[in-house]
Amino acid sequence: MFDSLSDRLSGVFDKLRGRGALSEADVRAAMREVRVALLEADVALPVAREFVEDVTERAVGEEVVRSVTPGQMVVKIVNDALVELLGAESAELELNTAPPAVIMMVGLQGSGKTTTTAKIAKRLTEKDRKKVMMASLDVARPAAQEQLAVLGEKAGVDTLPIVAGQTPTDIAKRALQAAKLQGYDVLMLDTAGRLHVDTQLMDEMKAVAGASNPTETLLVVDSLTGQDAVNVAKGFGTEVPLTGVVLTRMDGDARGGAALSMRKVTGKPIKFAGTGEGLDALEPFHPDRVAGRILG
Ligand code: GDP
Repeated sequence: MFDSLSDRLSGVFDKLRGRGALSEADVRAAMREVRVALLEADVALPVAREFVEDVTERAVGEEVVRSVTPGQMVVKIVNDALVELLGAESAELELNTAPPAVIMMVGLQGSGKTTTTAKIAKRLTEKDRKKVMMASLDVARPAAQEQLAVLGEKAGVDTLPIVAGQTPTDIAKRALQAAKLQGYDVLMLDTAGRLHVDTQLMDEMKAVAGASNPTETLLVVDSLTGQDAVNVAKGFGTEVPLTGVVLTRMDGDARGGAALSMRKVTGKPIKFAGTGEGLDALEPFHPDRVAGRILG
């Protein structure tokens, strides 16, 4: 995860760490290299620029230049700024509501939405001891509802029985009714994806949200798509009130641009990271741990 960004940054910081004294010019030169590394990692330009300005301002302070280990202090400042950029505190799911708490999953086709729905359902069932039901509202893609049922079997999570010919809103209402009657704590709605954010998709998301009143609306995006992932989040976020983002395929993401730009550009917290194809390959997103990985 983030290997190429991490390698670039350690190259910059190794040079600093080896020095007994640092001038302001040394710090500025290093920060220019950090900026290039961030841009190569596909971090959004304004985010990279602001990050570097902020870190430079903190790092050219007298304290750092005069310190006996200035290089280490600079790395610490970068680490703290990264944690802030990634969202400071880890964001938990907020499910404190009269059951069933509804989690609506949204995202583009192929982002990993259905897999992530099953991963979160499994985690809530096993770790949090919740009684979870999943329902697929994807009537557009053939076999989408069956795919969720298969994943539900694997994950040991119930799925709403499939009834042919219903609209997404009908299914959402039926799922809510069933979850209420059968005493489920959490209902997860796996909505349909599309290749692009379009009006039809957004209208469908709004109708489903209106019918199910979700406590959490999580956007699933593919971290490998870098800044596109951030743009997709902006696109969805203006139409549907998102409560958080799940970044998938972090296992293959050497660059980290989506993770680093997401919070700042969209204002939405990253709640989970998908780290593989298996149903256990899901981690709560901890900004401090991720910053630690980036800085090696
Ligand atoms: P959807 O169209 O958004 O519902 O996408 P799917 O859930 O069907 O996932 C598409 C593909 O991505 C599947 O082969 C998943 O196994 C894979 N996938 C999903 N999440 C991850 C992840 O975090 N890491 C990796 N490596 N693969 C993932």
